[in-house]
Amino acid sequence: DEAAHDGLRWKYHDPESLQDASWKLSMLSQLDEAIDRNEVWVAYQPKLDLATRRIIGAEALARWTHPEKGPIAASEFVAAAEQHGRIGKLTDFVLEKAIASAAAINKRAADFEIAVNLSARLLGDKGFPLRVSALLARHGMSPNLLTLELTETAALSGSGEGIEMISRLRELGVRISIDDYGTGLSTLEYLKKIPANEIKIDQSFVKGMVDNRSDRVMVQSTIGLAHSLDRKVVAEGVEDHETLDLLIEMGCDVAQGFAVGRPMSIDSLTKRISSDRKRSVA
Ligand code: C2E
Ligand code: MG
Ligand code: MG
Ligand code: MG
Repeated sequence: DEAAHDGLRWKYHDPESLQDASWKLSMLSQLDEAIDRNEVWVAYQPKLDLATRRIIGAEALARWTHPEKGPIAASEFVAAAEQHGRIGKLTDFVLEKAIASAAAINKRAADFEIAVNLSARLLGDKGFPLRVSALLARHGMSPNLLTLELTETAALSGSGEGIEMISRLRELGVRISIDDYGTGLSTLEYLKKIPANEIKIDQSFVKGMVDNRSDRVMVQSTIGLAHSLDRKVVAEGVEDHETLDLLIEMGCDVAQGFAVGRPMSIDSLTKRISSDRKRSVA
């Protein structure tokens, strides 16, 4: 049932049973097989361009519908998979699905951008850029429509290897985004070192910015800093229209969050895009 995959109906798994250490271990040993059994799928969360007020793309987010445990969000299994070195197969799976979906959307609506999360742990995988360019070529997708969102920037610490991989991806034309900006250590140093096209302000600053002055100052100065370095700014975790309006006022480029749309199935995303296009033509 496709509709059950939609954000609005998405029910989070009872967190208590997920804390269970033995479940965590068995979950990790099941993940690769779950991918083969089609229990893992990709949800898409729309991104709104604040200048044109149109949907310009989406972020791909992994979901797992476990036969006994029910739906599990990425926040419940991705970090554990990263820590236990099981993130490779998941990344390739999400990347393939996301590129295929974006290529299909682009047959009707040009220039639709897709973002995929990339664990910093994969930056040592020398074959990765080649796999990315092969996938893009196979689906006839322009590299600059793919953004790789780098989480866990701390893992890049002192790693020339990581910077080298990012540069190779940039040479292919792929865009790089620094995810959860503001939460890691020495983020200013990373901003200087990492040749990123975009930064995503972490939702912890965005959520409180209407009521909290220091959050607002953080967001405003991050926008200024990013723009002076020619980086695009995305705000994540935008949950209401007041925040959206404030971000527009502040000159933020793109917004993502429940106020724009929840992570949804590919069918719902396709519908959302076509109604968005009709609205802006009318
Ligand atoms: P992220 O990339 O920062 O993704 C944003 C997370 O915040 C998502 O949780 C999304 O569902 C949630 N979110 C979006 N808008 C709102 C909002 O307005 N309010 C609130 N409260 N939450 C919002 P999710 O899907 O559980 O993903 C968690 C993290 O897991 C992601 O953080 C990303 O770091 C990682 N992740 C997700 N999918 C993948 C994947 O395929 N590969 C890798 N390597 N990591 C992934
Ligand atoms: Mg992300
Ligand atoms: Mg984020
Ligand atoms: Mg995050």
